[in-house]
Amino acid sequence: MPKIRTSAIQQWFGRLPGHVGVGNVRYTTSGKTDEKSLIKGTQPVTASKDDLKLAISYNGNVVNTFKIKKEVTEKFPDFTYECDSDLICHKLLIELLKGKDLSSAVKTCMVEIDGAFSVAGVTQDGDLFAFKDAHGIRPLCAGHSENGSTFAFSSETVSLDINGFIRDFELEPGELVQVSRDGFERQRLLRGERKALCSFEFAYFARPDSHFDDKYVYEIREEFGRNLVRENPDIVKDADVILSVPETGDDPALGVHEESGIRWERASRRHRYVTERAFLLLNKERQPTIDKKINILAPKINGKRVIVTEDSIVRGDTTKVIVEKLRRMGAKKVYLFVTFPRIVGPCFYGIDMATYGQLIGSRHSSEEIGKIIGADAVCYQSLEGLVKATGLRRDELCTACTTGEYPTPLAQKMADIMKKRFSEGFEETGRIYEADDMMKCE
Ligand code: SF4
Repeated sequence: MPKIRTSAIQQWFGRLPGHVGVGNVRYTTSGKTDEKSLIKGTQPVTASKDDLKLAISYNGNVVNTFKIKKEVTEKFPDFTYECDSDLICHKLLIELLKGKDLSSAVKTCMVEIDGAFSVAGVTQDGDLFAFKDAHGIRPLCAGHSENGSTFAFSSETVSLDINGFIRDFELEPGELVQVSRDGFERQRLLRGERKALCSFEFAYFARPDSHFDDKYVYEIREEFGRNLVRENPDIVKDADVILSVPETGDDPALGVHEESGIRWERASRRHRYVTERAFLLLNKERQPTIDKKINILAPKINGKRVIVTEDSIVRGDTTKVIVEKLRRMGAKKVYLFVTFPRIVGPCFYGIDMATYGQLIGSRHSSEEIGKIIGADAVCYQSLEGLVKATGLRRDELCTACTTGEYPTPLAQKMADIMKKRFSEGFEETGRIYEADDMMKCE
């Protein structure tokens, strides 16, 4: 990720005129990943033609990249693709240039773009709007300031909270919301598709202090911990202490402690200023970063049988480094309690796990994974347990990376092709939705 100086942002904010704005801290799952490209692809992105202009900020991932890119390039011959945010912005502008109003233009985008998109944007007249794809894969909520004079959209409720805003509602799948002086004007443009909110948000991605409807993410994670105890009684009987991989393992650790009575030792301390997400790093960067990021208090675990709470295992190498570290510090046994079920397939909707080859769970059972990473056991929470803890129904969640059932048609097609190729020994080296031969898929 490019580093941005906070002080420079503050100064820049102070210079900004106007009464409306959009910003973004997304890590992109499309486009190039070198620093220059990431800076170029920084959101909000803009598009303009004739007297129309748009700026948007976007979370998610476009799956039918080729189709949309082709259409955009035909209309804008000088278009250069940095990442899929550019595609969404230009596609919306194309529809507006046809003379459609915002609702019709957004509706066409919802119908024609395959993927996940939660979008907040501003028109040339300074009108603020937001919309979500027909499955509502990524979160997006709306709120207002205490005095009712300012309105805001955010991926998570936490950013409303910390800015003193009151959350009003989570956008429905296929919903467009426009803002006027009187408040929010809500329009459900598409119905009928099943809701498919990303279940990984609950285990890993969302902040614990964000909430969905009436449930905080931390409460759900605590329940994940309790589930893991109920699902693994024999392991629990054989354990002396609990240790969490901070921070997404902390709330489940409390749940494990409550349900089992085993002491949760705060034996893993996170470095306050090392904030890189280890699973996004290159292999060679991972071990030194984890060593710097997480320090283990050896006296707390030396000679003990330890339950370690972790949010997920993606490639496995991050977890392996942690297990090795625990062994070095004298842990007698290491049992992993993993809140997100085994990840067996890639994500096409905005989480950076793009190929079967990079997923340890696509090739190995939990027993095999235990051996590879050096743990005595790897216990994944069941999908049923996860679903129940969220308070949502199974058919309201996307669980594609754990089940292979994708909520959008092109993603399913791509996953099936990739899986077949993978079983025949071929390994994708990049993101399939950006690979040339995927044009055939679309
Ligand atoms: S595939 Fe997995 S990570 Fe991606 S949106 Fe679905 S549940 Fe979330």
